[in-house]
Amino acid sequence: MKLHEYQAKQVFADAGIPTPASQLASDVDGVVAAAEEIGYPVAIKAQVQVGGRGKAGGIKLVDDEAEAREAADAILGMDLKGYHVDRVLVEEAVDFTNELYVGVTMDRGAGKPVAMVSTKGGVDIEAVAEETPEAIASEHIDPAFGMHPYQARKAVYDAGVDRELARDVSSVLTTLYQLWDDRDGSDAEINPLMVTSDDEVIAADAVMNIDEDALFRQPELSAMEEEAASGDELEQKADEYSFDYVRLEGNVGIIGNGAGLVMTTLDLVDHYGGEPANFLDVGGGAKAARIANALDMVFSDENVDSVVFNIFGGITRGDEVAKGINEALEQFDEIPKPVVVRLAGTNWEEGMEILNEDLVTVEQTLEDAVQRAVEYADEVKA
Ligand code: GDP
Ligand code: MN
Repeated sequence: MKLHEYQAKQVFADAGIPTPASQLASDVDGVVAAAEEIGYPVAIKAQVQVGGRGKAGGIKLVDDEAEAREAADAILGMDLKGYHVDRVLVEEAVDFTNELYVGVTMDRGAGKPVAMVSTKGGVDIEAVAEETPEAIASEHIDPAFGMHPYQARKAVYDAGVDRELARDVSSVLTTLYQLWDDRDGSDAEINPLMVTSDDEVIAADAVMNIDEDALFRQPELSAMEEEAASGDELEQKADEYSFDYVRLEGNVGIIGNGAGLVMTTLDLVDHYGGEPANFLDVGGGAKAARIANALDMVFSDENVDSVVFNIFGGITRGDEVAKGINEALEQFDEIPKPVVVRLAGTNWEEGMEILNEDLVTVEQTLEDAVQRAVEYADEVKA
């Protein structure tokens, strides 16, 4: 589960990490009111859970009311990498001289959490890790002992952080690790941790992802999830239907049973030159009603131009799936987007017979089904 920037900043601030003054707003007047209270200049930042918002036009610095209105109007309602922006964070602009990176995550290879520091903050840290891995200093932490103060100091020193800042950056890193541990984090990250002209550090961005399996013991964070979910209608819907769903940026809708099968379908869509619109796993034993819900989800995504079903029957029976697809599609006078189906495994032959070929295209192999769906999507785009 991912917290929004404004939520993660609240969690960080409560733990004592310096953050800029900020307020959430959802309309232009609200942005102006917040900016006046905080004092210009302010940064207006789209609250969607994707990185690289700045480059995509989702972050603007403004000096006065006229600029604030213009920027708020442009950002609110915009489509940012497939996400609809309905809230912005209005934040005291930081006058910075430098941008650092600090983060904590699980190093699965080492089987231990790792704390990281870099002086190359403010840019995509994955790119830094790829191009200049030596620019990221890291320390593995033994979770039984927690982060020793010397480990924080060593990471900060190895990263080449200025002496004057070392104490403050170490303290932020220690707090970040503590939060990651206490709050069942999967990733906690500040990028950039800005350095001001008077050598203060301040968290200008905040990322906090929580291990979903631990949410039951993090009631405060679960409440935030409910609030955050209201941001994206489709993800809210996926929660209601309890689907594993991830929204992507393409136009080929994908429905399958089992995460591996859905991933394979995603890869094949890519292989045949298409772009997946989503990951949607309906799970095992999917009954007709659940299949109808899955179709409803994918049809509700306005980016979707075609849909491919990839079902391998085990516990999930091919005839049940076929019934669900028919029932869902019979409700429409006109099918909103072409649907291609590939059934295999338990009762696939019965399923194929049940499927109404006036409503769907049936293919025998996964390769054919995916290619057909990509063709349909291309026809719509053309
Ligand atoms: P992300 O790109 O989605 O991760 O968004 P960030 O919050 O990390 O912001 C990206 C970049 O916008 C930062 O690295 C800064 O260069 C700039 N930025 C964000 N907030 C401020 C601010 O308050 N003041 C200034 N001057 N720049 C900011
Ligand atoms: Mn960032």
